[in-house]
Amino acid sequence: MPLNMLIVGAGVCGPAIAMLLQRSNPRHNITIVERSSTLRSTGQQIDLKNQAPHILRKMGLLDEIKALCVNETGLEVVDSAGKQIAYFGAAASGERRIGLTSEHEIMRGDMVQALYDASIKQNAELKVGPGQEINYIFGKTITSLDQSAQGVDVTFSDGREHLYDLVIGADGQYSRTRRLAFGQEISDASFKSLGVHAAYFSIPRIDGEGTLARGHLAPGRKMIYTRTSDRPVTGALLFTMQETPRLKASYKESVENQRKAFVEVFKDMDWQTDRLISGLKNSDDFYANELGQIKMDRLSTGRVVLLGDSGYCPSPFTGLGTNLCLVGAYVLAGELARQGNDVKGALKTYEEKMWPFIYECQQFSSRTMEFLFPSSRLGIWAMHNLIWAMSKVAGLFPQPQKRDNHDERLPEYPELKLPI
Ligand SMILES: Cc1cc2nc3c(=O)[nH]c(=O)nc-3n(C[C@H](O)[C@H](O)[C@H](O)COP(=O)(O)OP(=O)(O)OC[C@H]3O[C@@H](n4cnc5c(N)ncnc54)[C@H](O)[C@@H]3O)c2cc1C
Repeated sequence: MPLNMLIVGAGVCGPAIAMLLQRSNPRHNITIVERSSTLRSTGQQIDLKNQAPHILRKMGLLDEIKALCVNETGLEVVDSAGKQIAYFGAAASGERRIGLTSEHEIMRGDMVQALYDASIKQNAELKVGPGQEINYIFGKTITSLDQSAQGVDVTFSDGREHLYDLVIGADGQYSRTRRLAFGQEISDASFKSLGVHAAYFSIPRIDGEGTLARGHLAPGRKMIYTRTSDRPVTGALLFTMQETPRLKASYKESVENQRKAFVEVFKDMDWQTDRLISGLKNSDDFYANELGQIKMDRLSTGRVVLLGDSGYCPSPFTGLGTNLCLVGAYVLAGELARQGNDVKGALKTYEEKMWPFIYECQQFSSRTMEFLFPSSRLGIWAMHNLIWAMSKVAGLFPQPQKRDNHDERLPEYPELKLPI
């Protein structure tokens, strides 16, 4: 029997699960509501590693996505004069290697756009008719969720109400679905701060910037990266553990106030200061957040389920958020396809199968962060020596054959009717 489903959020995992669900049963009715008036395609590089390439290959999308990947060849750690302290090459997608660069890195916007486009294309091929298709609604959100024996009664921001068999919260780290379904207290408590504040934005490329990412540790617990790869602009990532009350409060304020709060913290950094401050002030894709992990005891309540960052954000520092959300989309769609109309049974099995993956990707704590962000020049000197030694050890081991690794813990779901 087809299900009537609402997906909240058209980021990475929203369109992905819509495609998987429709393929398993084209008679499903799948609505995706996105708060933003257009596809939110900003963000910097995201990694496609661990199980992500394998899932994209199964979906028939890997070659297309690979063609959009940026060509970043590794990371050099530099001092305040720009002199190289250490070099790390790119890590193959199935490999655990120290460093920033993965074999497959893609701009978040390109990934979101590619998945959205693929879902539109698939819908044109598979849709049965009105009410049995994938349907996007932009510029709206949900304002309440009421569960009853009949399903989930959803009220939208335009006042419209609709009854669904299942609501999937794919609305990111600050998920409103989580808050509405589990309550403010549980939702707030699920956010475990790593004590790090991050700003991401683009700046004009300068001469001499090649395909290596550059990383720098600055006094006062600051970490800065520039990433140009083969693109016409450079991505800047600024991280700090120097928390000011203004910075902490700024996320609830305007983007202008967020920019100002970051400028205040970074204005005395000792590398590329003018360029990065100018970017903080003027870039048109500035995005900032407090890094943290979402740790929930349960991923579903009744007929509402959390998917991706909303349920188990591992934090961008792990580079595993996109991987985990694709694993989640695959397992949730697989269980729903397998268990038919037993939605609650499917949600239970989804949770059970996800915990090992979630646990593995969330092995990061604020204590790790304290270590990674030295505050004094002496601490930075010690860290540089450690990083240098690690780079030499890493260099002793040859790169393994590049591969799109298969993980046998990932269930096979013939019910999804995937191309592979
Ligand atoms: C603008 C932006 C920039 C990012 N940049 C980076 C980056 O540079 N590096 C990195 O590692 N990760 C970044 N991330 C996070 C990264 O995309 C996720 O960690 C990962 O891909 C998991 O994706 P997701 O689909 O769970 O969540 P997201 O990709 O965060 O997508 C969530 C979607 O839900 C929408 N949404 C939010 N609230 C509502 C609501 N109430 N109603 C309807 N829709 C809603 C959002 O607009 C967004 O489209 C960024 C996320 C966003 C939203």
